[in-house]
Amino acid sequence: MKDCIFCRIISGEAPATIVFADEFVTAFYDIHPITPVHILVVPNEHIESVNEVEEKHAALLGHMIVVARQLAFANGLDQRGYRLVINTGPEAGQSVFHLHLHLIGGRRMPFRFQ
Ligand code: 5GP
Ligand code: ZN
Repeated sequence: MKDCIFCRIISGEAPATIVFADEFVTAFYDIHPITPVHILVVPNEHIESVNEVEEKHAALLGHMIVVARQLAFANGLDQRGYRLVINTGPEAGQSVFHLHLHLIGGRRMPFRFQ
């Protein structure tokens, strides 16, 4: 998808600080972090949102969580705690329509949802 910023990051056309990449996913720092650790774990395949997820993507979504868990450990968050968030659609505030998992942590997050 040539107009998709995350596809452009994955292909190397747009800059980002990439912290992990393999055949299936790419992870990079969010450009506007809301917590001291704020990493996006993104499938290399362009999937717009959870609304477009199908059974064939099940292993890919599981892999995204395994990678997020590894990055949580690498950033010292495993004992402190962290959140994995996937915003879907306008009322959830999704702003980039390429599926992504937010790994946020490194400070206390006092509200269940904010
Ligand atoms: P959403 O609001 O769709 O759940 O999350 C999109 C996230 O992507 C936001 O947290 C935003 O800061 C981040 N973002 C948007 N454009 C870029 C970009 O060009 N580079 C990086 N690294 N993050 C981006
Ligand atoms: Zn894309």
